[in-house]
Amino acid sequence: MFSAEISNNALLETFERWTDDFPSIIPWCVELGSSHSQFTVVIGTAIHGNETGSLPAVLNMIADLSEDNANLKARYFFILGNPDAVRQGTRFVERDLNRCFNLTDTKSLEGKRAIEIAKVLSEADLFIDYHQTNQPAVFPFFTFAYHEESYCWAAHMGGGEHFVTRDIKTAFSKEGLCGDEWLRQHGKPAVTLELGRAGLSRDAYQVTLSSLQRVIGFVETELEHGQKPQPSAPDSSRDLRFYQVVAKLPWPGDEAMLNPGFANFQYVKANEELGVVRPGEILRAPVEGFLMFPKYPKRDAQGKPIDHQDGDIVQIVQPLNEHPRRLWNH
Ligand SMILES: [Zn+2]
Repeated sequence: MFSAEISNNALLETFERWTDDFPSIIPWCVELGSSHSQFTVVIGTAIHGNETGSLPAVLNMIADLSEDNANLKARYFFILGNPDAVRQGTRFVERDLNRCFNLTDTKSLEGKRAIEIAKVLSEADLFIDYHQTNQPAVFPFFTFAYHEESYCWAAHMGGGEHFVTRDIKTAFSKEGLCGDEWLRQHGKPAVTLELGRAGLSRDAYQVTLSSLQRVIGFVETELEHGQKPQPSAPDSSRDLRFYQVVAKLPWPGDEAMLNPGFANFQYVKANEELGVVRPGEILRAPVEGFLMFPKYPKRDAQGKPIDHQDGDIVQIVQPLNEHPRRLWNH
């Protein structure tokens, strides 16, 4: 069923054929199920163009649901976030789409796409957004601000046991709002799952497919019984493990470089060598914990990053000692 050999163009073509059969109110979005339903699920894939790992399972799920479309109880939107970036095999074309949900940019390709996607998101009762990291991850993980309903969905859908979270008052990035943040600001649940290293893989396929099956199976069963789909919080034996960012190491300059091979959720000790600030000056972990989003930008012949780096070279997370509900439930 799964093949890692399929090209990005072939994935796009297959998705586009589904949009012919099941069009929605915006381009590159498949709508299935009952348009009169009281419950709408929105699934996001390839919001970042190089993060195609969820796409084969999303296509499978669309094919499965299409066979029983007339009997579906919920309405489903499947959004392919950034088709132009998928075609180019890049994270984005002009701007990071997942920082455009302030919806103020009406000029750039991604700014315009975010405004389109928000039209669909404004219909959502639940948004699940699949992402991948640039480097490998020790395991898949959820990452989003703490919001009780979103957390219950994450725990219920499975696919990850680890949850990097924060107070909902803290923005993910100062560059702009993410799609899931935008929906939570409107009081609706939204979940982001990081599947592992960007690109097609059997793991990404299986995690996406099993989590989609679980969510959609639950939604359909609840609606069939006349209930609003809302999973209860997991008991402590099945609960997620919670982490928060305790250190952000800003880019020290063009000569900075991490040692090769760091992965998301790789453990480091306090003071452990992470790389160099510049030749001869060691970059060290300020605290112990697990590495998050280590950056290895492409570099020119002089070793200078090709794209300007203004985020963090790496972050460090640590387990939370308390349930985030007790820390941040506003
Ligand atoms: Zn992403």
